[in-house]
Amino acid sequence: MTATEIRKAFLDFFTSKGHLVVPSAPIVVKNDPTLMFTNAGMNQFKDIFLGEAAPKSSRVTDTQRCLRVSGKHNDLEEVGIDTYHHTMFEMLGNWSFGDYFKKEAITWSWELLTEVYKLPKDRLYVTYFEGDTKEGLETDTETYELWKQYVDEAHILPGNKKDNFWEMGETGPCGPCSEIHYDGRPDNERAQVNGATLVNADHDQVIEIWNNVFMQFNRLKDSSLQPLPNKHVDTGMGFERLVRVMQGKTSNYDTDVFQPMIQFIAAKSGKSYNSVAKPGDTDWNDAVAMRVLSDHIRAISFAIADGQLPASNKAGYVIRRILRRAVRYSYQTLGFKEPFFNQLVPLLAEQFKGVFDELYAQKDFVQKVILEEEVAFLRTLSKGIEIFNNITAIYNGGTTILDGGNFVNHEAGKNVIKGKDAFELSDTYGFPIDLTELMAREKGWSVDIDGFNAALQEQKTRSRAATAIDTGDWIMIKDEDEAVEFTGYDETETIAHIIKYRKVSAKGKEQYQIVLDKTPFYAESGGQVGDKGELIFPNGDIIYVTDTKKENGLIVHFTDKLPSTPEDALTAIVDPQKRNSTEGNHTATHLLHAAMKQVLGSHVNQKGSLVNSDYLRFDFSHFAKVTDEELAQIETIVNQKVRENIPLKEERMVAYQEAITSGVTALFGEKYGEYVRVITFDDNFSKELCGGTHVKATGQIGYFKIVAESAVAAGVRRIEAITGVAAENYINEQTKLVQGVKELLKNPKDINKSIEALLEENNRLKKEIEKAVLEKSSGLKDELAKKATEINGVNFIAERVELPNADAVKNVSYQLKDIVPNLFLVLATENDGKPGLTVMIAENLVKEKGLNAGTIVRELAKEIQGGGGGQPFYATAGGKDATGLERALEKAKSFLS
Ligand code: ATP
Ligand code: MG
Repeated sequence: MTATEIRKAFLDFFTSKGHLVVPSAPIVVKNDPTLMFTNAGMNQFKDIFLGEAAPKSSRVTDTQRCLRVSGKHNDLEEVGIDTYHHTMFEMLGNWSFGDYFKKEAITWSWELLTEVYKLPKDRLYVTYFEGDTKEGLETDTETYELWKQYVDEAHILPGNKKDNFWEMGETGPCGPCSEIHYDGRPDNERAQVNGATLVNADHDQVIEIWNNVFMQFNRLKDSSLQPLPNKHVDTGMGFERLVRVMQGKTSNYDTDVFQPMIQFIAAKSGKSYNSVAKPGDTDWNDAVAMRVLSDHIRAISFAIADGQLPASNKAGYVIRRILRRAVRYSYQTLGFKEPFFNQLVPLLAEQFKGVFDELYAQKDFVQKVILEEEVAFLRTLSKGIEIFNNITAIYNGGTTILDGGNFVNHEAGKNVIKGKDAFELSDTYGFPIDLTELMAREKGWSVDIDGFNAALQEQKTRSRAATAIDTGDWIMIKDEDEAVEFTGYDETETIAHIIKYRKVSAKGKEQYQIVLDKTPFYAESGGQVGDKGELIFPNGDIIYVTDTKKENGLIVHFTDKLPSTPEDALTAIVDPQKRNSTEGNHTATHLLHAAMKQVLGSHVNQKGSLVNSDYLRFDFSHFAKVTDEELAQIETIVNQKVRENIPLKEERMVAYQEAITSGVTALFGEKYGEYVRVITFDDNFSKELCGGTHVKATGQIGYFKIVAESAVAAGVRRIEAITGVAAENYINEQTKLVQGVKELLKNPKDINKSIEALLEENNRLKKEIEKAVLEKSSGLKDELAKKATEINGVNFIAERVELPNADAVKNVSYQLKDIVPNLFLVLATENDGKPGLTVMIAENLVKEKGLNAGTIVRELAKEIQGGGGGQPFYATAGGKDATGLERALEKAKSFLS
């Protein structure tokens, strides 16, 4: 079976068991502070497990794109070295939300593997949770008994908490699990060593393919386990591992999922791929590099397609580091000195067409972003190599090749690169430690690894302290199973109750987070900021809401204190002014988006937006600067739509497919439910999927004004604009500015004309001055030449002159050199009270007499309390004390005696 057939068979199988096929969630996680990237199929269902949202169907199945490069599940260091851990991989899964449990899950997984995929039973091993006394968890005998119906008892193995109790992160849903492993070793090896001893023992031919998790608990902050409201099934099977097993390969990279990519890399690098190379073999490094490239391009491309651009902090930095890891292999091991990694994007996009179409739709954009990163990193790589050479040169007493000021900080011991230098190379120049070690080895040097680790640890501790957030457990006030109701589309004031709250401390500041059963507060999302406002209690307590955010299915209100009577009914009131101007900016963003598609083309896609009460910011994919004419055109269209006063059409429950067919604008990297909200301003103009709040009619926007256009990243531009009162104020200020200029110019009829005339006059005057100076200096030159006195065969001139600027002095000096042979010239000037000295020495004197203008001018400058320098034949100095000029001229002679 091909990979495509294998994926389809999985989804078909679970469809036949009553499951609904749902789309993969984006790989970049929004609305969950405990997670950066999707690391398992269950992430997108977390709120269902926690009872915070209702499922679409009690049985679903999908293939989810996952990324395991940070947090609890991080496989990055394994990737490329082993044959079965990837950064990005597909996880096939089936779920039961409070529906079937262990019996069906186990029966069906066995049926699928042995009857549909026809995997040999004697190569399969299954595990069950052995229990954990510390946690008070019992042995999962139920699972054992269920497996016994199908599997030989010698193939049913107990597993400890590490392998058989699955947890998503430090907190969150979890439960015992049962894994299925596959023994892919040849028969003779299998006869010698019992496969059961190799399960969960990091053997690269005895690998886990599927994990069935029985979700029953929620792990709390204090690490205790709280039973979930319902019991669920959550399974995950690594697609690439399944394909490898099905295709009888010994490495995931030998399947049709990776081979096209590997062969492309091999061909372009002129090397061949040896799948079975071992560490130490000559082609081992090449094999690792090819695996790394073919793997990492998937992680990077999907992260970018789902909205996470490489950046210098947080999730963006994780992506940048993976990208650099790949580029380093491509440059150093495979020998690509020019950007190459980005060229893998079209191939990948083609491969995932029909599976994850997000990538194909944005392939040019994704490739461009990667190319730009690659170019920048290749530059730092070579810069890093230069610095590396400097560091080693210091010890060798070598010459000082400056590296931009950092040089002085480097230190080297005897053939050892100090830890903090290795750390600086890695931290500032993205120069991986293993590369530093390798290059050191090539020079016969070593790296102080302990010192490096200490520096790394120090930085980690520092950044952890800066970002540490201590989140307490929820304290329940009111039992509530229902999802939280958002009333803010219809009203800004709602009577509500607190369901629960918790305390959060960050950077020494304490805050509270409150969840209400109903709320008019809009939680930050889709670029629109969270509402601010008040919670008013019957006893007079007023609690200010400083921000509102989403967390999974919850709407969380941020406050600085708690009410004294949290059980009481309260009135939640949104700050109306802030909300109104935010709505104006949000609707304007939709109009802007539509106008841009008209003016710039349909390739314009939203890449991020911010809408608050002050302004709006819109990032979009576009490869060129937006010209002034285009900006004017866009502005005109938007303002026309504002004047048309188009009423808002809001449809809250449109089936997703229906909405897409009707031509709405959906965004990449957003997770949409089965039913979506469609916001329309004129059926033929702007139709977007949007959860935000909007004006009732476009006229409320008043006026729209673009104030800035700039670049934010490769292929991404940004427009900033304002509306309503802010736009009016802006125009008033601009008008005032023009008025001020007019007054300065004495109210001419045509400002442009009179400024042009001023500039012209200024130019003319400048030229006249230049001419006058030139005339003066040529007269001066002749006068000075006459004053030359001969001392020991040198024509010596030391004079005080009056010239308007340094250029003029230089001019005169050079002219004199041409007409006076064997010249030693010293000129003293004073401009605006500042003394200056110039020394010019004929080149033959420099050579023959060893005279040096630079040294001399520095010596003379002491008389005027100053300093300077230059070349051996021409140098200048400035100073503070003009009374010293005469002394300096007098002193000059001493250099000739
Ligand atoms: P392993 O012990 O092999 O790292 P795991 O215990 O981390 O696996 P789970 O968290 O249970 O795996 O994930 C479910 C399935 O996803 C695994 O059975 C495996 O098939 C697949 N899987 C996990 N991590 C990776 C990865 N980094 N690359 C590819 N597939 C993976
Ligand atoms: Mg793992």
